[in-house]
Amino acid sequence: MADLLPGVPRYTTWDQVPEGLYTKTRLAQLDPPMKPSPGATPAGYALYHGNQYAALYPLDAAVPKRTQSPAQRAALVKARDLQLVCKGCGARSDDKPWSRRQCRTCRYVAAAKASHEQARVYARQVVEALATPGVFALGVDRPHHPSRVVVMTLPDGAGASGTVTCDLNVARPGELDFPGLLSGPDAFRILDRVLQDATGLVSWRPLYAAMVELAKPDVDWDDPAAAWDGMEASRWLHGSRTPWWQISNAYVPWYGQTLTGWSPPAPIHIDWSVPVPGATGDVAADLQRAVTALWRIAEGTEPVSPRAPWLVWPPRT
Ligand SMILES: [Zn+2]
Repeated sequence: MADLLPGVPRYTTWDQVPEGLYTKTRLAQLDPPMKPSPGATPAGYALYHGNQYAALYPLDAAVPKRTQSPAQRAALVKARDLQLVCKGCGARSDDKPWSRRQCRTCRYVAAAKASHEQARVYARQVVEALATPGVFALGVDRPHHPSRVVVMTLPDGAGASGTVTCDLNVARPGELDFPGLLSGPDAFRILDRVLQDATGLVSWRPLYAAMVELAKPDVDWDDPAAAWDGMEASRWLHGSRTPWWQISNAYVPWYGQTLTGWSPPAPIHIDWSVPVPGATGDVAADLQRAVTALWRIAEGTEPVSPRAPWLVWPPRT
């Protein structure tokens, strides 16, 4: 217990304690239960357990202990019951309380909203990085064995256009005698020269595989070590040395068009195959659209998908 107050009598046995002085325990046993009033100073101390003192109070220094009223009890029951109700959509759990007071669907939707907001942060970081010279955008007509590859410098603001640095048409094996078509390895050598000093690359989707397939038209992906063998010299291909920013990574969660096959309470499936918004199939034009999409995400001023999970859930009636 706290320090004993000086000048307050101490009783070493219980029979010395005058009538009308009570310990806290005794006060609480009275009917109605009492407790020392706030700030009350003890009128004495009683020794117990041989080395400890219990404070003693007269009844006029005590107040009734508050007990739970029926209304308070009801409120507690209601609060416990509320834990079973999802704070997002009101769905009721029939057994244990929802984790974080949200049902499974609402947790998925909350996660989708969080990655939507995170996507803007990411896009702003990329847009800032684009201000450094040496960052290029790279586009292909298809993710495997591309037949057209475009490299573009980055526009320096929303709405501006990049400049096409190279636009390569690649032959498939057997098509080589068409004029103007390059073999994959020749196209790759040109890219390697253009991008060797790149400080960053922007693409809609990952393009590593497409680039390796240019250099090695008969690459065997079943043997990844062999597939990558000899590619180390192309510094720009390695994300750890030259960062690659994949715009679809930011666009998909930002736009929120993730409801393919979605019906609550099933998980939300993010559709990563979303094409560049407004894509026409022309590589250079679509690459420009992809970069424009990056600015749209960063600025966050445009509406997102009307089917975005956080817009359609919980359903409004
Ligand atoms: Zn819910």
